[in-house]
Amino acid sequence: MATSKRDQAELMLAAKRAKRQAYALYSNFRVGAALLTNSGEIVEGCNVENSSYGLTMCAERNAVFHAVAKGARGFRSLAIASDDAGFLTPCGACRQVLAEFSPRMEIILTNAAGHKKITSLDRLFPIPPDLKKLSRRRSKSKK
Ligand SMILES: [Zn+2]
Repeated sequence: MATSKRDQAELMLAAKRAKRQAYALYSNFRVGAALLTNSGEIVEGCNVENSSYGLTMCAERNAVFHAVAKGARGFRSLAIASDDAGFLTPCGACRQVLAEFSPRMEIILTNAAGHKKITSLDRLFPIPPDLKKLSRRRSKSKK
């Protein structure tokens, strides 16, 4: 389900705002993300790096975890902003985490010039592993 141009513009602004909070001491690559929850709330996240590089957290997952902590369980759209001239897409780990909640959500990619490209999570991550189905099957077989 596509969001309105107005919601998209608001999400793009929120992602850009979140990018300014990025903690990117090591890569100097700042990323911001803004999620529109099913209840209409906008929740932001930024990348948070660590001197132990593997502990770094992406902006997209940071936004999801922040939103879940606030009670959200479904998302309509996600906007991503970076300083890159190209359109940054979510990494594999973030695609998996997003698909847990809203596998067909809209994704708004933006570039440093402020242009946007609209896609969807099912286009970026077409066949996610359905562990919920697997766990239902497992619990049925125990009966
Ligand atoms: Zn990621």
